[in-house]
Amino acid sequence: MLARIWSAAVLGIDAIRVGVEVDVAAGLPVIAVVGLPDTAVQESKERVKAAIKNAGFAFPMRRIVVNLTPADLRKEGPIFDLPIALGILAASEQADASLLGDHMFLGELSLDGSLRGVAGVLPIAAAAKGLGIRGIVVSQENCQEAALVEGLAVYGLKNLTEVVDFLSCPERFAPSVPCPAPVTASTTAYSLDLADVKGQHHARRALEIAAAGGHNLIFVGPPGSGKTLLARRLPGILPPMTFAEALEVTRIHSVAGLLKGRGLVGDRPFRSPHHSASGPSLVGGGGFPRPGEISLASHGVLFLDELTEFKREVLEFLRQPLEDGYVSISRTRQSVTFPAQFMLVASTNPCACGYFGDAIQPCTCSPRKREQYWARLSGPLMDRIDLQVAVQRLKPEEMTRSPGGEGSAAVRQRVQAARQIQQQRFAALKQVNCNAQMQAAQLREWCALDDPSRLLLERAIKQLGLSARATDRILKVARTIADLASHEVLSTAHLAEAIQYRTFDRVL
Ligand SMILES: [Zn+2]
Repeated sequence: MLARIWSAAVLGIDAIRVGVEVDVAAGLPVIAVVGLPDTAVQESKERVKAAIKNAGFAFPMRRIVVNLTPADLRKEGPIFDLPIALGILAASEQADASLLGDHMFLGELSLDGSLRGVAGVLPIAAAAKGLGIRGIVVSQENCQEAALVEGLAVYGLKNLTEVVDFLSCPERFAPSVPCPAPVTASTTAYSLDLADVKGQHHARRALEIAAAGGHNLIFVGPPGSGKTLLARRLPGILPPMTFAEALEVTRIHSVAGLLKGRGLVGDRPFRSPHHSASGPSLVGGGGFPRPGEISLASHGVLFLDELTEFKREVLEFLRQPLEDGYVSISRTRQSVTFPAQFMLVASTNPCACGYFGDAIQPCTCSPRKREQYWARLSGPLMDRIDLQVAVQRLKPEEMTRSPGGEGSAAVRQRVQAARQIQQQRFAALKQVNCNAQMQAAQLREWCALDDPSRLLLERAIKQLGLSARATDRILKVARTIADLASHEVLSTAHLAEAIQYRTFDRVL
């Protein structure tokens, strides 16, 4: 007898429906899986066999053929355990097949028959809804993320026996409802408060501007100057995510298998990969492409601590995504695209010994060594950083006597006001949400300069040897500074402050 079950495979952050056909017929007791299965699917044969037996069902001692369609789609992982087991039970008349047509099934089976979570359930649930599927059966671990899709009945079940009970008597099971999870950053994001940062007015101001306009930023300063302390406080002054942003972040985390039973991710991501990170771990990769750090940081912050320690060729991978806001990964059979709209925050020492320009400890590097160090920093990545900020160590008396600074909540309010101005400004544009994302046309429209400002900018271009890209970045930052002051027109003062944040173009 033949049974057909609907399941799905993840492709990027989307999903494709997979049909699982199971035929149980007379013949030698073997089980064959066809339709380009991955080795993991082969392994699932053993799990399915044990799960069926240990859940108290009979494993048919006949010839079993499992066909996964479409055949040209590469399939991976234990996601098909449950549909294969159900197919075998339905084809051997141990499970009711009447609900199989308009429901989707996915999940890994333990040897004892219990149902385990798998990656990518949110995009699968969204695809199921789009296909007109009525309900989806997943593990309890996955039901919160699936329940985020409105208009789809989600059943989070414990084990194979429960799924078979559901098939014969669905009215006994209530669909899961999503936990009320408002999109607000939780206490963890807000627990790191700017009030803890003493002094550092210049760096705090730069952090506020970065948050207000979505700008990339680098802190340059000696060890112990608080670069990391400052960077970690950036998510806490960003406005809360919109529901659409939170949903996209959740989707990316779902595909990466990082949700671990959670529903909606409400916190803006903060990712800080180690400097030994490989290219694929940073931008995504693998035989079945998985999102990398830059995608996991989408709508949040990617923090590269000790930027000069990262391999140059690894940093090269960041260039295109920084321009495009997404990353494409090509494979022979299929290529996938992951979102990568993140703010880049980097930190670095000013030289190899770490103390160039420090007021307390002298630098022991030779001028040549310093030059070599700066050569490592310069180049295409530095060009894409809008704000370059020197951070000084506090003197001992400043450390003990300075009061804590303004708290994150107050800063966040100003940031939010500036972001609202930008949202209205760019309301008609799909690709542009904040000043940092402005293209040439918007720069012309919103960053017009009067004569004194134009003269000032021309002088800076000459003196600092600024590239066209760096000049555009100055205009974008100036626009944000004006927005923070609720000024519609760019003034010379706004521009002058923006130029200040190109301190290191002179050195490079
Ligand atoms: Zn030095």
